Order: sequence, then structure tokens, then C-alpha cells
Amino acid sequence: AAQEGFDPEDIEGELAAAGHGPLPRLAVVGRPNVGKSTLVNRIIGRREAVVQDKPGVTRDRVTYEAEWAGRRFKVVDTGGWEQDVLGLDASVAAQAEFAIEAADAVVFVVDATVGATDTDEAVVKLLRRAGKPVVLCANKVDGPSAEADAAMLWSLGLGEPHPVSALHGRGTGDMLDAVLEALPEAPAQTFGATVGGPRRIALIGRPNVGKSSLLNKVAGEERVVVNELAGTTRDPVDELIELGGVTWKFVDTAGIRRRVHLQEGADYYASLRTAAAVEKAEVAVILIDASESISVQDQRIITMAVDAGRAMVVAFNKWDTLDEERRYYLEREIETELGQITWAPRVNVSAATGRHMEKLVPAIETALAGWETRIPTGRLNAFLGEIVASHPHPIRGGKQPRILFGTQAGTRPPRFVLFASGFLEAGYRRFIERRLREEFGFEGTPIHISVRVRE
Ligand code: GDP
Ligand code: GDP
Repeated sequence: AAQEGFDPEDIEGELAAAGHGPLPRLAVVGRPNVGKSTLVNRIIGRREAVVQDKPGVTRDRVTYEAEWAGRRFKVVDTGGWEQDVLGLDASVAAQAEFAIEAADAVVFVVDATVGATDTDEAVVKLLRRAGKPVVLCANKVDGPSAEADAAMLWSLGLGEPHPVSALHGRGTGDMLDAVLEALPEAPAQTFGATVGGPRRIALIGRPNVGKSSLLNKVAGEERVVVNELAGTTRDPVDELIELGGVTWKFVDTAGIRRRVHLQEGADYYASLRTAAAVEKAEVAVILIDASESISVQDQRIITMAVDAGRAMVVAFNKWDTLDEERRYYLEREIETELGQITWAPRVNVSAATGRHMEKLVPAIETALAGWETRIPTGRLNAFLGEIVASHPHPIRGGKQPRILFGTQAGTRPPRFVLFASGFLEAGYRRFIERRLREEFGFEGTPIHISVRVRE
């Protein structure tokens, strides 16, 4: 029930202010060392140092939420992915390709002190062909004397170069104003929110966990409806596969099938592929090799799917190779390593023998159902009222923050907005999430809770 001092009539305005609904995506691309990561840090206002001294340090996260002038958007950081055997031009091109596929606007960063290189020119061609709005960032313009360097970048034909010092913050505000103009209000391709057509599955996992084996197994045993979709420029990227009487679309399977990028050190390209597939999918099936220890790379892939807000199933593959001892240690590892996704349905499969393949579809359906669950406002508030009564927030500084009212602002994944009389501590928010899950399920889906404080 609504509390004193709270006007439920105002809810629409509050939700709009909180920027709910799918957010537009901004990708930051450019050659290594031009300052992409420094710029991303600026944009998201991150305090922790993410720029590393060591080149090629891979970071765990790809997408961040940012806010400028009251508008929220996602920033896709391509700076942290490793350079690899593909070479400089290919890896920068892959970034651009990813940005083109997954972003609504692009910030193209050039080092103004170096000027436009051949690699920069090549990226410009790719970006222009794609027709996505591009904001040109002339970086490392640390003072007025370097403004002339920035002006040289008019030659790229991308319009006005915005002179910026990502390091010191100079010019970033003006550049972000231009970014907001370039960004649509909502993502053009609201992949996660599109209704209709076959449900989209991303089959992801680090190299050699068995993705292509699993895909072949499920596609081989069932009728393959369409192997190549028309309308894609290059490869057949998506495959329609019938499972359990339903047609599913496995997205971005070209990278799985081709297996050309699996040589040592190709993590960079693999990360891009994975991120692009996750963006397009509704549900991610994360494949983990049960015969090996759960790795940092597995974790990174899971984080990508959680950050993207996708429904999720975890499949432990190569179950046929496990002995008693490994099974024991695997369970321990799952407890310690996979704490962030205890809510994801789990299946233990073998792509080699076909073990438990039939459990995959029900798990996917469960996850999608959780992802789409909507709790009526009345029921949610009855539940919140009980929590507030039985487990009030601890008193802080003589005050007791109270949840006044809550509403589910969206689904796919479920997003909640709680209106409170004061700041709710992280521990209390985690408690609310845990209780929400106990009460309403939400199996297989991340849930998002934001708190608006009413003065
Ligand atoms: P990335 O590889 O494109 O992500 O580049 P980084 O953000 O890691 O930056 C590469 C180097 O350039 C780092 O040593 C940064 O401190 C430096 N750098 C980034 N932005 C600026 C800037 O605006 N001015 C100056 N002088 N240095 C910068
Ligand atoms: P991808 O790189 O993730 O596509 O992995 P692959 O499908 O190419 O599989 C990597 C290796 O693991 C291959 O040698 C497969 O034969 C093997 N493999 C895949 N699934 C299983 C499984 O369930 N059991 C066993 N024993 N081997 C498997």
C-alpha cells in the first residue's frame, strides 16, 4: 500500500526519470592506446582504475551503464580485449564490426597527437558503410596548443572532431552532448525485447567446451529447418533448429561452426563474437567443460550474459568423462565460483553421448518464463509491506529508511523500482532480491532493482 508522502499518481513520471526500458548502446572504438579505456572511465564516472599498465589485459566487463544530462545509456568498452594473432588491423576492424552490429551510435577515438593513420581510415570506411551515427573524438588534446591537431581530423570526413582530453576531462562534456544528440531514445534493435518469431538462443562458452559438438548433436538429431538465412551479408549466422516440437533460432552460429578463430590467443575475437551473440539473444546457454576447473574465462562469459540481462541456462558438458572424484570437486567449485548465478537452471549433458539433451529445452523454457514474469503491483506491494514489517531496514544515523512503494518497471529481464524514504544499503537490497526470488521464482533470470529516494 502507498505510504504517507508518496503519490502513486506520479509513478509514470518517476519511471521516466529513472530511465526505464531498454537503453540505447554506445560503442567506443579505435586503435589501441588512443585512450578508449580512459574515455570510457570518464563517461561512466568510474573511480576504480581500469586502465592497465600492462597492454592486453583483459577486463571482466564489457558493458556499463552511464548517465549524462539525465539520460541513461549503455557504454560498450572494446578497449580491454586482447590484441591477438589477427594483427592490429583485423582486431580493430572486428571492434568496428561489433560496434556496427550491436551499437546505436559510435564514438570513434583518434589520437590527435598522432593524427589519422591508415588503420583509422580503414575503420572510417567500415563505419560509414554501416550508417550508424558516429561522434569523432580527437583525444589527447590536453591543452589549447593541441587544438590544431584536432582540426586536422576534419580530413576523416566524419564531421566535426571533438577535441578531448580523456585523461584530464577537458572537452568531454561537449563531446557527450554530441553523443546524446546522436543516440536514439531507445535502441533501434531492441533484440531482447522483440516479440514474435522463433526464440533466440546464444550458445556460448570458451573454446573447446563443446559448442560445435552440441550444436551438431541437436541439429543432427532433429530436423534442421533452415540452414542458411537469407538477408545476411556474409555467412549464415543464425540457424533454425527444431527441438521438442518448437523451432528455435540459434544466433551467430557461424563463429561456432567455422572454428577458424580458435587458435591460441584468439580470445579477442572470441569475446567480440560472444558479446554480439549475447546482444542478439533472448536466452544464453552457457556451456562449461565439466571435466576442467571452472575458469576466469567461464566467469567472464557468465558476467557478459548477466550484464546484458539475458535469461540463462548453465550446461555442464562432457559429463561422460567424469569420475566420482571430479564430480565431487565440481560441486565444490560450483558453490564457490558460480555464486552469482545460483538462480540459473543447470543441466549436466554430454554432446558426445547425447546424455540429457532432452533436459535442455525445458531448462530454456523455464529461464524464458522467469525472464518474462510480471508481478502485479498490488501483489508486489503486499509482499513489500510484509517485508518492511518483518525485516525493517537497520537504523542508520538515527533514521530508518523505509520502502514506501514498489513497481515492476519492465520485464525481459524483470526490473523493479523501489521508492524509499532513505538510502537502502547493498545488503538490504540483496536481501530484497533473495526474498523476491523465494516468493516469485525468477528462475533463470537476472533481476534488476533500483531505488529512488523520496526526500
Ligand atoms: P586504449 O588502448 O585505447 O583503451 O587506451 P588507454 O585508455 O589504455 O590509454 C592509453 C594511454 O594513453 C594511457 O597511458 C593513457 O593514460 C593515455 N591517455 C589516454 N587519454 C589521454 C589524454 O587525453 N591525454 C594524454 N596525454 N594521454 C592520454
Ligand atoms: P567448441 O570449441 O566449444 O565448439 O568445442 P568442440 O565442439 O569443438 O569440442 C572440443 C572437443 O571436445 C572436441 O574434441 C570434442 O570431440 C570434445 N567434446 C565435445 N563434447 C564432448 C562430450 O560431451 N564428451 C566428450 N568426451 N568430449 C566432448
